[in-house]
Amino acid sequence: MFRRVLIANRGEIALRVMRACRELGIETVCVYSKADEEAAYLRFADQAICIGPAPSAKSYLDIPSIIAAAEIADVEAIHPGFGFLSENAHFAEVCQSCKIKFIGPSPETIASLGNKTRAREIAAEAGVPTVPGSDGPVITEEEALITARKIGYPVIIKAAAGGGGRGMRVAHNEISLVNGYHQARAEAEAAFKDSTVYLEKLIVEPRHVEIQILGDEHGNLLHLGERDCSLQRRHQKVVEESPSPILDEDLRRQMGEAAVAVARAAGYYNAGTVEFLVDKERNFYFIEVNARIQVEHPVTEMVTGIDLVQQQLRVAAGEHLGFHQKDVQLRGHAIECRINAEDPDAGFRPSPGRIERFVAPGGPGVRFDSHAHAGYRIPPNYDSMIGKLIVYRPTRRQAIHAMANALEEFEVGGVKTIIPLHQRIMQHPDFLAGRVDTGFIERVLMPR
Ligand code: ADP
Repeated sequence: MFRRVLIANRGEIALRVMRACRELGIETVCVYSKADEEAAYLRFADQAICIGPAPSAKSYLDIPSIIAAAEIADVEAIHPGFGFLSENAHFAEVCQSCKIKFIGPSPETIASLGNKTRAREIAAEAGVPTVPGSDGPVITEEEALITARKIGYPVIIKAAAGGGGRGMRVAHNEISLVNGYHQARAEAEAAFKDSTVYLEKLIVEPRHVEIQILGDEHGNLLHLGERDCSLQRRHQKVVEESPSPILDEDLRRQMGEAAVAVARAAGYYNAGTVEFLVDKERNFYFIEVNARIQVEHPVTEMVTGIDLVQQQLRVAAGEHLGFHQKDVQLRGHAIECRINAEDPDAGFRPSPGRIERFVAPGGPGVRFDSHAHAGYRIPPNYDSMIGKLIVYRPTRRQAIHAMANALEEFEVGGVKTIIPLHQRIMQHPDFLAGRVDTGFIERVLMPR
């Protein structure tokens, strides 16, 4: 096992990785920007190194600073967390050339899956259904029009380098296609410095169901069941659960095998997620692979009893997976609510600032992954997620009930959070019945 690991991230996920390292007896080195220098979680690191000013381009995304910190601290490996450099193939390659183990898949795998049109090809070659769409990128407005006519409206224009729901536009006709095409390209250029877009048929009121995969570097690859992430706002997940209320054993096996087939075709190892959309007839379609640990990984940990971050560290250190597919059983039900410091009454505008009052819920089966506390000042520079509340119970109904109680216990003063939105979700009869799709929040809970 590694002796010392650097965590190239901040906040909740930095703390999560640190905890996993400590349990495995690994020393931790945490990096931080000027905006995070007061953060309490840095205390838990054996060493904390400042890597630059607040803007992430000059700190958490600055490869030379992070590599310099890794060399000064003499670490053997870097855990990238999620976001920032976690899916940056160049960073993984730089680590490799500096003889520092990157905790994640190979640079080649990250590069091919990071290009969503290439990922679609890999899935199709592996015999996995993809959403009908363009063959690769769509280069001109004319090509977009011809392709859309062929696949049939409505369509969705997506950024090839996409992530976080950015560079995505729905088009119901030729006029909105032309507008959306240019908007998506501009947004993709601004967000990813890559304006390449492609087209997919819009799946109407789909569910988002994803499969957690895990592989070692000796060819063992398996899946840990699914997460249902249908509750979204602007194509960004808000609530996640496992198991999915719409899967049965048969569909779980089919989707699990499809996910493993895609991962195998991409030469995947370490932890990752294969994402699918499921239509009303329960047909599933591959959309993309996230080549990293995900925000919502705890729901899988709760129902499988497997610590995914510890597994990431173990396989990166060269260990074999210590179990087989048949050993993975989903037991009980887990739900996660993302706690974002945003104002639901003001268009979900971020609400940074000092947390004056903070009482987090607890009790049996209640897990709260967060770096926040009373007196903590949320910097305006980064993502607005300040924690994740996860509840685990034997049944879905009990889990929803327990989540509603936990949300009621939760007190945050000084900044706004989306806790009131979560409370409405937990009480909604359609959510209780498991009848939701990716448009549910916007259509039902916040109609314009
Ligand atoms: P990103 O990488 O930006 O997260 P994804 O491809 O993972 O983008 O899609 C994010 C979300 O966007 C999906 O969960 C779904 O809600 C919506 N979406 C993506 N593709 C389609 C599609 N073809 N039809 C309907 N909704 C889609």
